[in-house]
Amino acid sequence: MAFVCPRCNYQSKYKTDMKRHFERKFICTNENGIELTEEIRSVVLRDRKYNPIKATQAAQSIINYNNFNNTYNQFANNFDTHSKLSYVCEHKDKALVGFEDGLETFFGPRIKRIEDPTYRCLYGLGEPDLLNLFNNLTRIDKDTLNTLNIIFDKKTNRFQIYSGTKWESYLEESGLQELVRLVKSYFLDTYEIYLLKNLNGDYPIVKDRRSLKTHLDIYYQFLALFDLPLGIIGLSDREILGHRLVENDEYHLEKIYSKVYDKIKSDLKESDKTKFKRKIINIVKENTIHNVNELNKVFLDFLRVDENFRTLMRDTIKTESA
Ligand SMILES: [Zn+2]
Repeated sequence: MAFVCPRCNYQSKYKTDMKRHFERKFICTNENGIELTEEIRSVVLRDRKYNPIKATQAAQSIINYNNFNNTYNQFANNFDTHSKLSYVCEHKDKALVGFEDGLETFFGPRIKRIEDPTYRCLYGLGEPDLLNLFNNLTRIDKDTLNTLNIIFDKKTNRFQIYSGTKWESYLEESGLQELVRLVKSYFLDTYEIYLLKNLNGDYPIVKDRRSLKTHLDIYYQFLALFDLPLGIIGLSDREILGHRLVENDEYHLEKIYSKVYDKIKSDLKESDKTKFKRKIINIVKENTIHNVNELNKVFLDFLRVDENFRTLMRDTIKTESA
């Protein structure tokens, strides 16, 4: 049996042909009034064809099998976010990415850039950039559902972070602390060293020291909100600059910048602290709403278009309620 494109009726014996057909730069002619969603594509690649069934018909079949006198939405309510996510990922054959692995992928290109000695631009994070970092990091779309690894659960007021093996749950404040701590260790420590290297090296790539200093201050103020230790702690001048800075002290920079940091910390107002933390928490909260919506859309799409998925979910409920 050939693979058939439900949109234009194109046929081929080979899966790779159909894959290529789906990835065409210019999408095929819509003969049958079908949007080729990712779900529909995955059904075709697996079952060779896709038979659109009317929504009412599909809903009827769920109701018949289960006596669930309800619609898709209510049907989907039988599953919590975590299980929906794991079923959808499994069905798409994409493993859920752990939060730390996600950080590595997310920050990899940036780290490469600022560690590249030929990179000649100033890379500096202002306050909006720092917030934006957390926004981009915690926002997913329909096609990157398998990176939905941080959730703010409204019901319990807790952060849930997927570690790669299981979901860890944190109280609001400690969840935020953990989030920032991880971002720091996967990226911000490198950023700090980049600034210090250019501020103190003999041959800085970035020569605008005033701007570097401003960004370092902004960053230290940010770090102070969370009372996290500087990335420079424990690093000798040689490790940072490649050479010693003064005669009798290997840790000259560490001492200088620890003092700078202490001063910033003591100047920090408690009210500013709370305000900024609130901003990050709200970002994650808002993104969670968006992300869970996307997840629900995909979950419902699968229920609608994919008979196998429907059967599987129906049986899951049966087993669980048995
Ligand atoms: Zn087609």
